[in-house]
Amino acid sequence: MRMLSVAILLLFTTSTVAADTYTIYGIIKYPNNTAVQYEEIEVQCEPHAYDCAKFSGEGGMSDFGGGYRIELPVEDQDEGISILLVVKGETFEHQISLQNQNQGESDYSTMLNITLDQEPPISPLSTGLLCGTLFFILVFANVLVKTGRQLMTPEGRQRFQGRSPMPITTCPICDGKIRRHLLVRHLIVEHGIPPDKAGAMAGLQFSDERQDLDT
Ligand SMILES: [Zn+2]
Repeated sequence: MRMLSVAILLLFTTSTVAADTYTIYGIIKYPNNTAVQYEEIEVQCEPHAYDCAKFSGEGGMSDFGGGYRIELPVEDQDEGISILLVVKGETFEHQISLQNQNQGESDYSTMLNITLDQEPPISPLSTGLLCGTLFFILVFANVLVKTGRQLMTPEGRQRFQGRSPMPITTCPICDGKIRRHLLVRHLIVEHGIPPDKAGAMAGLQFSDERQDLDT
């Protein structure tokens, strides 16, 4: 019983001591009607506005939809005090009015929608998208240039078509440039060399070239 009375007494005293709550709420938007998301809204005061000073530094943060809510502890004599609401460097004046508000019990609330002057920043998502697109364009252009350069040479054209370039060799007799696999035939047909000898010549020629490559 004694505990209960103490509790009731505590409740009574705190409710009388505690100031009323003055809630400012609303939505913060950019001029193009998009929400100002997750930005701080802070109460500041004009210089020398001493009656405002006790609210200085109070504030809140806007949510995903730009909605914000600031709760200020007020007393009856705070009527008419001018405060400044600062969002992203922009200042909006508001006068506390305890008379014409919807007064539920002992709390006051007032709706204040704010529209900033500044344009919305480019969102991180679209920046990322832009970077990604730019990157792909650069890679694509690079591939295009490389492919184009390769197509300038016959070897590159063959490689582009999926064929590895035919190794070219030099005929040991006439110094003509011939594809390797045609050398034996060339020796037989053009220079009248017997097939077995032609094969040996070609083999010798290839091994010489391999040595050339090694050194
Ligand atoms: Zn030849």
